[in-house]
Order: sequence, then C-alpha cells, then structure tokens
Amino acid sequence: MENKKEIPVYICSHIFEDSRPVLLVYKEDDDLQFLCGEEHDSNEIPRVVGINHIIERDESLIEIINIENGWEAERSNINSEWGLAKFE
Ligand SMILES: [Zn+2]
Repeated sequence: MENKKEIPVYICSHIFEDSRPVLLVYKEDDDLQFLCGEEHDSNEIPRVVGINHIIERDESLIEIINIENGWEAERSNINSEWGLAKFE
C-alpha cells in the first residue's frame, strides 16, 4: 500500500488558521488546493501542509482527494454534497 500521508496540499490562510472550512478544492498538475471559497488578498502566499493534517480536521475531504486534474469540487457548507466541475 502506498503511504498517502505526506502528500502536500496548498491551502489559503483561512484554512491554515482553521478559521474557515474547506469549501473549494482544485486539482491541477497533480497539485491539490484546499480553499475556503472566499476572497483573498492578491498578495496572499499559499501555504503548503501535509494532507493528513487537513483530513484529520475534516474527514469529509476524503471523498474528493482523488479528483482528476483539471477538476474542482465545491460545496456550499461542510454538511452539503460536493459538486464536481471541470474548470479548464
Ligand atoms: Zn481563504
């Protein structure tokens, strides 16, 4: 079994600070981005953490971590279903 624990993900400052839930996920070039879906400063620098830290906090993310490149997953709140869409 491949150990998936050390997969890096890019997150916004809100996810980093745990002040907002992950509501928007992008996958591009094998990189996952976990975002809150709100506005961010144009000078915000994405942070990188191990995916296991985010999933420990919110297990509902397990459903969408295997989305394909070029796809996004979005939900309106942490209890709603993920909606998938191609963003290219
Ligand atoms: Zn954010």
